[in-house]
This record gives sequence, structure tokens and C-alpha cells, in this order.
Amino acid sequence: MTDKQTDLVGLTQDEIFQSLLSNNLITEKEKFRAKQIWHWIYHHGETSVHKMTTISNELRKEISKFYKVERPLIKEHQLSKDGTRKWLIKLEDGNLIETVFIPEESRGTLCVSSQVGCTLNCKFCFTGTQKLVRNLSTQEILSQLLLARDQLSDWPNSNQRKISNIVFMGMGEPLYNYDNVKRAALIMGDKEGLKLSTKRITLSTSGIVPQILDWGNEVDSRLAISLHATNDNLRNDIVPINKKYPLKDLIKACQDYPRAKNSKRITFEYVMLKGVNDSIADAKKLVKLIAGIPAKINLIPFNPWPESPYECSNPDQIKKFSDIVNNAGYASPVRKTRGQDIMAACGQLKSSSVKVRKSILRKGL
Ligand code: SF4
Repeated sequence: MTDKQTDLVGLTQDEIFQSLLSNNLITEKEKFRAKQIWHWIYHHGETSVHKMTTISNELRKEISKFYKVERPLIKEHQLSKDGTRKWLIKLEDGNLIETVFIPEESRGTLCVSSQVGCTLNCKFCFTGTQKLVRNLSTQEILSQLLLARDQLSDWPNSNQRKISNIVFMGMGEPLYNYDNVKRAALIMGDKEGLKLSTKRITLSTSGIVPQILDWGNEVDSRLAISLHATNDNLRNDIVPINKKYPLKDLIKACQDYPRAKNSKRITFEYVMLKGVNDSIADAKKLVKLIAGIPAKINLIPFNPWPESPYECSNPDQIKKFSDIVNNAGYASPVRKTRGQDIMAACGQLKSSSVKVRKSILRKGL
């Protein structure tokens, strides 16, 4: 065993091949070895190189000297009375992240984190009160899915696919960790491995305008925008990144998003805050703002957290708001709050970590 084995999770198939080659474990003609390893990791969920039995025993021994397939540790597992599960995951450096599984009748959605903490401080979000520590690596992002599959016995030998959809909606702003999230999404979508097509992956962003279009061109998954306000004054206050990328630019990026141009819907997330953004006038402004964009508006009852500055809108007000949006031709479901009893609901994720300077992020660590 070497001092530092490379984790195979997070490498592309070609990178596995090149790496095996550079370690003199295979020859140029043995590209299929990388394919075999890939299949074991992402199709079977295998975590031991020694059990990859389509590879000779001798070669397996050699490979395992250089490589590993490791899962992060589960520090805590909570199961909500509605079936939602939340895993508190301990990373190799001791940082903690959260991953949530939401089972529904027709699908199972895994909500994946992209950063430890978040820089953006959206006022209604508990995660935003936790300072940013660092970006997650591709391996750490993917491992959330692999680990959830282990926990749910959701590998091919189980009868039914439990995790059918992925949302990058956990801790962090995924577009601030663009490269690693993109690599993870493309590996998740690989047809020879995890087979989650980009149609089943949703990237949720608070509105990092330049990267929205890059993402559209390079990945083109479903897109969800954390909108929450219909004018710049209010949005500057509750989603402060709006000061950098105001509504006009955000809406333009949505109009230009490739899927939207192909008449596929963009989801706008709108948290219902009593007396803040839930008036009839707000509903009308919302309809005007997104006019022409194929869209669905998710109305999210605000999930309170300790010392949160807001209250949730009254159900009556949410209904009136929803009716206006609906009558304008947009689906506007009121999202059912899931996992609230285990603080797994939207905007409630938070782990205890300490802020390290933002410059770490820029260096891509
Ligand atoms: S809503 Fe998202 S972007 Fe805003 S603070 Fe929370 S985790 Fe960060």
C-alpha cells in the first residue's frame, strides 16, 4: 500500500485509464480496464478493489496499492416521520455536510450539498448563517449519492430504483463550485454508470448569472432559480447576491438558458415570507417578471429555524398568491414541507463548521 492512495471516485473514465497507465499497471491497449473499474464503482457500487472480480487477482492486488474507493463516514442518520432521511456526513478533514433523501410516490429525490457552509447569506436560510468553509471535491459530491445508495440498498440488485432524481439544493451555492459540481453531474449522468440523465438533475442557484449560461451550454440540466422577490430592493435584502447580479440580468440569463429556449420549464423557487414578499401585488409582479419564460413556480412555505427573522405566510395568503400565478398560466404548486421534524426541510440545513477565508475558495481547494 502506498502512503496516499488515490480515490477512484471523482475521476473520469479517461482519467482512470491515464492514471493506471502512468503507474505502469496496464498498457495502452487495455482501456477496457478503466471501463471495468468504472462499472464496478458506479453500476455495482463496489467499494473494494479486491472484489472487482472481472479483473485478475494479481492486477487487483497491484491496483489496490495505488487506489481506493472510500465512502465518507456517517456521523448521524435521522429519519423523519414522513420518510425523509437526513445524513450528517463527516468528510476526511473532519468537516460536516448534510444530504437529504425525500421519498415520494413517483420518485425519490436526493438533495446534495456542494459546499461546506455558504457565502451568500440569504436572509431566510439557515445554511446561510453557517460561514463558508470550503468547496466540496468531485469525490465528496459524488460520494453523497453513492453513500445514499448504500444506505437505501439502491444498487441494481435491488428491485426498484429509489433515488431517481438529484437536486443540487443542499448546503452551498453550486455555481460557486462550478468545476467540481459539473464533473459530478456529468459522472452521475454517465450511461455506463449511475445513469441519471441530466433531465433528472436539477441545479438550484441563487442567481450567479455568468455561470448559468456556461452550465446551460456544458451540462444543460434542469434549472431552478431561488427568486424569492420581484424587485431589486427586496431581493438585495433577502438574496444579497442580487446586488451583483440584479433581476434584469438574472431574467435575461433564464431567457437564454438552452432548455428554456427549447420550451422546457425553469423552476422559480419562491419562499413565502409573511408580510415581506407575499402580497397580491407581489404575485402580479412575479407573473410580469417571468413573462415569456416557460416556467413553474414552487411556492415554499417558510421553514422556521432558531432565531429566524421571518414567519411563514398564512395558508390563505399562499392560496391567493398561488391562484394569481396559476391563473396566469403557470403551475404554482405549494411545496409540501418535508423532513421538518429533523431540520431537513428547505433552507434548514446547517452543520457546525468554522469559516476559513474566502480566498481558499478561489484557489479551488
Ligand atoms: S439559500 Fe442557498 S445560496 Fe442562499 S444562503 Fe442558503 S445555501 Fe446559500
